[in-house]
Amino acid sequence: MTDARPQGFDTLAIHAGAKPDPATGARNVPIYQTTAYVFRDADHAARLFNLQEVGYIYSRLTNPTVMALAERVAALEGGAGAICCSSGHAAQIMALFPLMAPGRNVVASTRLYGGTIQQFSNTIRKFGWSAKFVDFDDLEALKAAIDGDTRAVFCETIANPGGYITDLDAVSAVCDAAGLPLIVDNTTATPWLCKPIEHGATLVVHSATKYLTGNGTVTGGVVVDSGKFDWSASDKFPSLSQPEPAYHGLNFHAALGAMAFTFHSIAVGLRDLGMTMNPQGAHYTLMGIETLGLRMARHVENAKKVAEWLEADPRVDYVTWPGLKSSPYHDRVARIVPKGAGALFTFAVKGGYEACVRLVDSLALFSHVANLGDTRSLIIHPASTTHRQLDEAAQIRAGAAPNVVRLSIGIEDAADIIADLDQALAKATA
Ligand SMILES: *Cc1c(COP(=O)(O)O)cnc(C)c1O
Repeated sequence: MTDARPQGFDTLAIHAGAKPDPATGARNVPIYQTTAYVFRDADHAARLFNLQEVGYIYSRLTNPTVMALAERVAALEGGAGAICCSSGHAAQIMALFPLMAPGRNVVASTRLYGGTIQQFSNTIRKFGWSAKFVDFDDLEALKAAIDGDTRAVFCETIANPGGYITDLDAVSAVCDAAGLPLIVDNTTATPWLCKPIEHGATLVVHSATKYLTGNGTVTGGVVVDSGKFDWSASDKFPSLSQPEPAYHGLNFHAALGAMAFTFHSIAVGLRDLGMTMNPQGAHYTLMGIETLGLRMARHVENAKKVAEWLEADPRVDYVTWPGLKSSPYHDRVARIVPKGAGALFTFAVKGGYEACVRLVDSLALFSHVANLGDTRSLIIHPASTTHRQLDEAAQIRAGAAPNVVRLSIGIEDAADIIADLDQALAKATA
């Protein structure tokens, strides 16, 4: 492109990070199924290892297929750089890794994907890190939770199991005042509905397993860096702002500026943690992401129809889709997710736990799975599956009460989705 006009979302979703293969002219990004790359000569090898020249060394660090996807997601999110990882959970560890150290903590929203609550409550303690969970609607509680050891603040745009939208503007203002990076899991919104960096996020993480790939074929994750955080403004982030002993004393921020986090994540994070995306997985996600805009438009259009139909149905107690006027988070839709309130929400079935179980077993088009963001419509009853280890009070706090099921609305014909819910609700509440 010769003019400086910024390209639109759908153009970037197809073209960003990709150009015809320099060796063959292949139009699609080839699957570079290779572990290593031949150095031109010893000097070239040395320059690559010194980060004096950017190039390929070994596929645990970088691979051309995987890099094409990283560049594409960075472009869609409006970030400076990105790192692809083996899963969404790997991306979360990779996002925290350059920031944290033993004794440091992350302040996280209580409204998170169940697996993330688990990872943050228990597993990260093995690294000497910890998480403090607070209600992000209570900004005073958020401020109070931040202490001298806090190194990051973490939330989701549209929080799982659905129905909640985080006020990213308010949360990022608190982070700015505290000099801390805000990490936003944008899995359920995708950059088509919300670009968290525009609302002040420092890092954006994704489970590429979900909408980015879009068809339930891949496990993957991405961390996007805004490139906007000043790591040297305090002494809180020595891995980035001081000589890094894990990389022969390189000062990443001084040497690489806005790309400090991205390069550290590759040169140290992927090198030593090895949570690398494989080129085959990147290929599937590159194919899926081309239609992200088309799919998301249909996902939210269908979600609206289904949510409105459910809300009007006497067999249903309530519906949590934030696009409904009845939602306490309805006001945030226009500001945070103006193109639609996502396609993930819960509803309460009259008849409680037993009716929910019968509903799940009676659906034919919907698949009963622990996944979301598929082209197919999906359902899960959190209280008997993902949230069954929690007691009832904790289930209710997490939005996963026994009488609630979660839907991930697909892109089938809305009339067929509704017909399936209608026949299953009849059986469930008979
Ligand atoms: C699925 C999911 C994750 C974890 O991603 P994996 O790819 O399954 O590791 C994290 N956050 C959210 C919001 C998710 O939906």
